[in-house]
Amino acid sequence: MKIKKFDLDKLVRNNVKLMSPYSSARDEFTGLSAEMVFIDANENPFQNGLNRYPDPHQNELKEKLATVKKIKKEQILLGNGSDEVLDLIYRAFCEPKSDNVILMPPTYGMYKVLANLNGVYCKEVLLTSGFQLNVSEIIDQIDENTKLIFVCSPNNPTGNEFLEEDIEMILKIFNGIVVIDEAYIDFSNGKSWLTKLIVYSNLIVTQTFSKAYGMASIRLGICYASLEIINILNKIKPPYNVNILTQNAALQKLDDMGIINQQIDEINKNKYLLINELKNIKFIQDIFPSQANFILVRVDDAKKRYDELLMKGIVARNRTKEPLCENCLRFTIGTGREVSLLINTLKQLT
Ligand SMILES: *Cc1c(COP(=O)(O)O)cnc(C)c1O
Repeated sequence: MKIKKFDLDKLVRNNVKLMSPYSSARDEFTGLSAEMVFIDANENPFQNGLNRYPDPHQNELKEKLATVKKIKKEQILLGNGSDEVLDLIYRAFCEPKSDNVILMPPTYGMYKVLANLNGVYCKEVLLTSGFQLNVSEIIDQIDENTKLIFVCSPNNPTGNEFLEEDIEMILKIFNGIVVIDEAYIDFSNGKSWLTKLIVYSNLIVTQTFSKAYGMASIRLGICYASLEIINILNKIKPPYNVNILTQNAALQKLDDMGIINQQIDEINKNKYLLINELKNIKFIQDIFPSQANFILVRVDDAKKRYDELLMKGIVARNRTKEPLCENCLRFTIGTGREVSLLINTLKQLT
């Protein structure tokens, strides 16, 4: 595989290049003044706090995020959860029925669902037995129709981070776009790839409000990339994809980073406590290292242990059907009380 030049223009789907984006009322007139009379968007004029369309570019929220993340506001795109962001990435770059993406299972299931939904082929390169990237095989699988490689680090469901040099190698060799999904980065000791956006023009980093930020219900996903990539995604996103309740809730949350960090510390503390206790449970055969807010364990019989926990009112995730995850259960780290309950329940099982 020889190193070629990254050419964003060649990666974008032709229909995306040719189309004109929807121009909303709020795009065509942006001056904001309470005294003005807005009769341009067919809204209901009676004020109730929600009668107007939200800012389609989420400027206030992006400004605050840009400050917190030390990045340019223009390098941010927000979506209705990371899932919408990932879908937009597929739709911008992958031509149905001809392009392909590379996934490294076991990993987050949405990458494949979205590929299927968009009519895009998946090439799958299994992680190594130590849950690391099989870089040479990934590079071997790249062809002229490979548009995206999804790297989930820390990885769901294994919990580990991938080696920095492995990810770097892919970023350097691949001419398409490398999407690094950092849904769990806030729990990790490792560094975010955000700082590498200036180095790699083919890098997209995604994060979410659903995990460490404690806001899964507001559905807010974040995409960071070059101005050029963000411009393309902005062109195709639904105009009002992030509603005002979500924008306001996220703004409030960002004012309270102290609480977020405190909760992350507590979750990590609970994680180490749980890991220590799990070492004493005989039917747990492996406890895989985790940089996330969950741990993957291998038990003697996943179905049996899953059912037993369920009988005691504890809902774990059975990952036994995922490749390399035979007889594996995934436990999300809960509150101190929830962790104690899990430990006590596991101790009672024989
Ligand atoms: C939970 C999770 C997400 C979050 O998705 P949202 O749509 O933002 O809730 C993204 N990626 C991975 C790997 C996840 O596990």
